[in-house]
Amino acid sequence: MYDIIIIGAGITGTMLARDLSAYKLKIAMIDKENDIANETTMANSAIVHTGYDPAEGTLKAKLNVAGAKKYEKICHDLGCKYKVVGAYIAACGEEEEEHLKTLEQNAIARGIPYEFLSGKEARREEEHLGDDVTMVLSFPTTAVIYPWEVAIACAEVAVNNGMDLFLNEECTAIDKDDEGFTVHTGNHDFRTKMIINAAGVHTEKVARMVSDDPGFHITPRRGEYYVLDQDAKYVKHIIFPVPSKTKGKGVLAVPTVYGNTLIGPNSDFVDDLDDNSTSEEGLDYVRKNIRKTMKDVPLYRSIRTFAGLRPTSDRHDFVVEEAKDVPGFVNAASIESPGLASAPGVSEYIIENFVKKHFDLQDNPDAVMEREAPVILSELSEEERNELIRKNPLYGKIICRCEQVSEGEIVDCIRSVCGARSVKGVKKRVRPGMGRCQGGFCEPLVLNILARELNTAPTDVVLDSLRSLILESENR
Ligand SMILES: Cc1cc2nc3c(=O)[nH]c(=O)nc-3n(C[C@H](O)[C@H](O)[C@H](O)COP(=O)(O)OP(=O)(O)OC[C@H]3O[C@@H](n4cnc5c(N)ncnc54)[C@H](O)[C@@H]3O)c2cc1C
Repeated sequence: MYDIIIIGAGITGTMLARDLSAYKLKIAMIDKENDIANETTMANSAIVHTGYDPAEGTLKAKLNVAGAKKYEKICHDLGCKYKVVGAYIAACGEEEEEHLKTLEQNAIARGIPYEFLSGKEARREEEHLGDDVTMVLSFPTTAVIYPWEVAIACAEVAVNNGMDLFLNEECTAIDKDDEGFTVHTGNHDFRTKMIINAAGVHTEKVARMVSDDPGFHITPRRGEYYVLDQDAKYVKHIIFPVPSKTKGKGVLAVPTVYGNTLIGPNSDFVDDLDDNSTSEEGLDYVRKNIRKTMKDVPLYRSIRTFAGLRPTSDRHDFVVEEAKDVPGFVNAASIESPGLASAPGVSEYIIENFVKKHFDLQDNPDAVMEREAPVILSELSEEERNELIRKNPLYGKIICRCEQVSEGEIVDCIRSVCGARSVKGVKKRVRPGMGRCQGGFCEPLVLNILARELNTAPTDVVLDSLRSLILESENR
């Protein structure tokens, strides 16, 4: 019998898993996917918002501010990227400038550093800022991260501290009895005293397995993006338009931790909980609307498009609460933006308000909350690289030319705790295929390394899910 099962290994579930692993608890985390962070945590703007935007009095505002304050240390402890780039909220004209004043009030009340710049001053810093921009509210402490890196690192820590992780396990039904719950997947029936439902866009579906009225209704809201080549070096800061009620934070330009630029997202409700395809209309919207705040947008340097689904609910706020009719079943639902930035706050809130209600928490004396950063060859000095190659010649064999990723790094990420089991899993961890050629050169090489390391036939190596086989038969 587990004490707690977390359903969903996105940033919400993994951050909580890491925090819970500091206590003497028997924990499991299950996910229907073949990897950690394969849904919304995989496809977003990657911004640690400081918390100026959510409306006063909401749980979003409270947990965003709390979460953002903790992020830098968490990333430091986990050996994850955390790059402070700053955010500009760009107003065009008097009406939008007025709205900046509301955001300023939020910033003052929440202790978030900010400054105002004139359009001219801001253009000196950001040469591609549009000529119509008249005023900018700057939030200099805003950072970007590599979201799935943080989720994977949190899961690694939790597993090292004793958590059981089960991938490819979709929760299909839950039974409740006097002692707790039975979580059914196609492969297992797991017994547990408590469940945390962190299933992203699927939280309502999972909640309905135990509750006739979960108290929230999720509709996925899709956001689509262009990814620009690293060489485009288009912006230094994150550039936002002034937010609106209907279209959220609007279409942004975001410098990522590895130097690409994201342009997007749009904000469109869709019916299908799994439809993260891009669309002509969505990308059209992005192309038109980025020009509201930016000029000379080099969309011809785009190397990829992608889409993510926000788990938007009819409650217009995070829904983090114990199901009214089912004690011991906690929903972490409606975790749309800024869910990434808020994850440490959401985790703390769940532990303080619900976990402590059911368990007398004792520290786990063996818990280690840090993780050593993996080797990133391209960031080392020549001397450091040579030293590594002397010890392990696989670091001297470059597999991904665009991102300069060596075979040694790929092997490390397959052999690590919570290691990669698919081509996409390797791409998420060490970046072969993230560059300009998008895997055209390195993907067959990665496939062969995976086959060797997993001791399987190349024809059994998958791109992502267990169903996504790449080869039909072996060739020369
Ligand atoms: C376009 C867009 C832009 C965004 N930008 C930002 C941003 O810049 N900053 C920010 O702070 N936030 C941002 N967000 C929000 C942020 O990405 C999400 O709030 C966050 O990733 C949600 O994480 P999660 O763990 O709750 O959900 P997910 O990452 O979706 O994880 C849920 C997990 O549950 C699993 N699951 C689902 N059903 C089952 C089941 N039945 N059984 C087992 N497992 C199951 C899924 O496979 C998945 O892995 C953005 C979101 C989008 C879509």
